[in-house]
Amino acid sequence: MQSTEKPAGDVLVVGAGPGGATLAYALAKAGCQVMVIERGADLSRDETLRGMPPETTAAYQTAGESERRRLSAAGGRCTDTFTNEGSGQLFVPFVGCGTGGSSSLYGMALERRYRHDFEGWPVSYDEMAPWYAEAERLYEVQGSPDPLRAVEAGCLAPGVPLSEANAMMFGHLESRGLHPYRQHVACRRVAGCGLCQSYLCAQAGCKRDARTVCLEPAIAGGRVRLLAEAEVAGLEASAGHVTAAVVKHRGETLRVAARVFVVAAGALATPRLLARSGLAQRSGLLGRRLMRHAIDLFVLALGPRHAEAGEAKELALNDYYAMPGQMLGTVQAFGMAPTLEYLRNKPGRNLWKMLGPAAVPVARLFARAPIVAGILADEPSADNGVMDGPRGPHLRYRLGALDQNRRLQLRRRILRAFARYGPVRVFGTSELPALGHVCGTAMFGERPENSVLDRYNRVHEMENLYVTDASFFPTSGGVNPALTVMANALRVAHHLEAVL
Ligand SMILES: Cc1cc2nc3c(=O)[nH]c(=O)nc-3n(C[C@H](O)[C@H](O)[C@H](O)COP(=O)(O)OP(=O)(O)OC[C@H]3O[C@@H](n4cnc5c(N)ncnc54)[C@H](O)[C@@H]3O)c2cc1C
Repeated sequence: MQSTEKPAGDVLVVGAGPGGATLAYALAKAGCQVMVIERGADLSRDETLRGMPPETTAAYQTAGESERRRLSAAGGRCTDTFTNEGSGQLFVPFVGCGTGGSSSLYGMALERRYRHDFEGWPVSYDEMAPWYAEAERLYEVQGSPDPLRAVEAGCLAPGVPLSEANAMMFGHLESRGLHPYRQHVACRRVAGCGLCQSYLCAQAGCKRDARTVCLEPAIAGGRVRLLAEAEVAGLEASAGHVTAAVVKHRGETLRVAARVFVVAAGALATPRLLARSGLAQRSGLLGRRLMRHAIDLFVLALGPRHAEAGEAKELALNDYYAMPGQMLGTVQAFGMAPTLEYLRNKPGRNLWKMLGPAAVPVARLFARAPIVAGILADEPSADNGVMDGPRGPHLRYRLGALDQNRRLQLRRRILRAFARYGPVRVFGTSELPALGHVCGTAMFGERPENSVLDRYNRVHEMENLYVTDASFFPTSGGVNPALTVMANALRVAHHLEAVL
């Protein structure tokens, strides 16, 4: 294997998800030369699998393990196998791999954290607010202000009017004294929109993700270069200064130099990359405090059916999150129920397969029914984390006793609020592979003894190394994470403009 030297320009970014691509976009706009290195595929290519999850394709049903992995990768999904330390079981995390990172698969709900969510953070809500506004404009977030924080309404386009079914539910929730609003979503809802959540969008320009909004325009502008299907295996450093990234690309090893290095490989990969490179060890927190939200789904079996997919993501409420003493988590429309083919072909425990023909009427009962998600803010714990082991990556995660209790409270409140619509709790997002909202494994803070990064996301005691993926969260908060990752990437890019 030979090693080739390459210059990246001003900044080398590891990972093309929201944390990496949004930063690259902003830096390019400011005139910097940026190289983005992404482990997964360039998902703008024709050979990607769009508009459906790989599990629903006919090929998937008869394919062997390696072909299934190939199909998953073509659908922008991670195919790495992790060990669950608690059970010893192997699993593949449901996160993105490819340009756009997990945002290529995401549900497009882009919500601001609450003011109280910044407690224990080295930056305040007021400091983040202008970057939230810029991220909302950039990603074209649509929705209506959350009545429980009307003064922090955000920069929202109104979007299409509520569907008849959702208008009815909206009225019902209001009549119960709750405060529903039009969910904040980065989806243009073009004709035929399938609300592509958990798979790549089939329609050009509909899903507003980090690839289409940031990476591709920045590449077209000439200041960002992309090296896809290339994995940063390590960072070389001396005297507090990173000098090169070691990159594996098509059987070659490259050493890529830059003035500044930004790691945005996602909260599962970033701490492992830094640890492999012998960096960011001082606080002992690297790879720890992993959070992922405890997400519960409820099918409203008696609720009004959605006429089209886009309608399945229109409502949200924060009554169980906004008030002191009620800080459990947000409640929001989740999207359409997956098809029976998908449920049957999912690896692992599979009730749907076991049900045989009986699964058909059950699945029909749920098809087009509204689904709501309760997203519980999980507390950080040093016992939860991710790291490489002798047999590959392993992950440890247990919801603490207090969180389990809070989860029961949130479930009870949701069941009560939607009682009229026959809510039935279903599984899927509660199991460990559902790591879409993973965060916290390289937290930022004020002091090097109790944080990995400083307030500008620079690794303490390293001059030119930054982390901008969701690893930096000190707490998970009760809302979806991606808008905060995007806004923060814009904030850090602004800081870097001054540094460069
Ligand atoms: C199915 C699903 C639905 C979701 N829905 C929502 C939602 O509705 N709203 C919301 O706010 N959030 C949602 N999320 C979460 C959101 O997508 C993530 O919070 C966000 O993408 C995190 O961005 P990131 O930059 O931290 O990392 P990622 O998006 O994980 O990007 C990291 C990138 O780095 C690459 N990489 C990793 N290691 C290396 C390496 N060594 N070298 C080079 N590249 C590397 C990866 O391949 C990946 O592309 C969802 C996630 C999933 C999976």
